[in-house]
Amino acid sequence: MHELTAQLEHYLKVLRLPGILLHYRDLSDQATQKKLHYDEYLTLVLEAEVHRKQEASVKTKVTTARFPYVKTIEQFDFSFQPSLNEKEIARLGSLAFIEAKGNVIFLGPPGVGKTHLAVGLGAKACMAGYRVLFLTVQKLLEELTIAKREGNLIGKILAYGRLHLLIIDEMGYTPINRDQANLLFQLISMRYEKGSIILTSNYNFDEWGKIFEETVAAAAIIDRLVHHANIFYVNGSSYRLKDKLKKEKTIA
Ligand code: ADP
Ligand code: MG
Repeated sequence: MHELTAQLEHYLKVLRLPGILLHYRDLSDQATQKKLHYDEYLTLVLEAEVHRKQEASVKTKVTTARFPYVKTIEQFDFSFQPSLNEKEIARLGSLAFIEAKGNVIFLGPPGVGKTHLAVGLGAKACMAGYRVLFLTVQKLLEELTIAKREGNLIGKILAYGRLHLLIIDEMGYTPINRDQANLLFQLISMRYEKGSIILTSNYNFDEWGKIFEETVAAAAIIDRLVHHANIFYVNGSSYRLKDKLKKEKTIA
């Protein structure tokens, strides 16, 4: 290796500039070909590093968000889901609701795309630099219960408070007892007007009494959740069964 190249690469490694390391040869060629000014060339070099660092930061954010799978809003087939207005969902994708500290709620039966949409919005939020965490209600309650047992409930709730977006998935899949409702209420009250929540449930609000041991707790939680919320009723048949149904139709 040329001595100068070796030295340059050594410096780039010491300074932790992997974006420049990856692109400096191309950029040098470009600068020669296009007869760029020094400052133009330097801007391109720095741009390569900024992009690389932004990419790495998004990757970390997506990993720490703990999504069950990563899918995008663009992958969502709105023609299969006519109960949703594509424009309204696209508007959510601008993430103004996070700036406004509002909530988004997807209600509907299994398989209609609630988790997909929540993940899609969550992934967009990561790309925009927001701190996001995805948890099922069950997992959230588990974490809060452990924190309480260890005398760290406030710490845990404050940690959730530092998130820009908390996604709570699958409300209704497991019953919620009195103590759990209390934990959930504390969390949701803390986030009220301070940070966004996306929540999905297979139960409409008027059926939440079935999930909670105490209907009063359900009412108090709903009250805070819906105050600044975009609520979407997603219905129709399960996307998971789509191909199955198609096959059955062809057979018939
Ligand atoms: P649920 O409403 O039960 O949370 P999911 O969002 O997990 O359902 O959707 C089930 C599966 O079907 C996922 O793999 C999801 O990506 C896919 N899916 C659901 N609806 C659509 C849709 N309209 N377009 C594309 N994929 C969809
Ligand atoms: Mg789901």
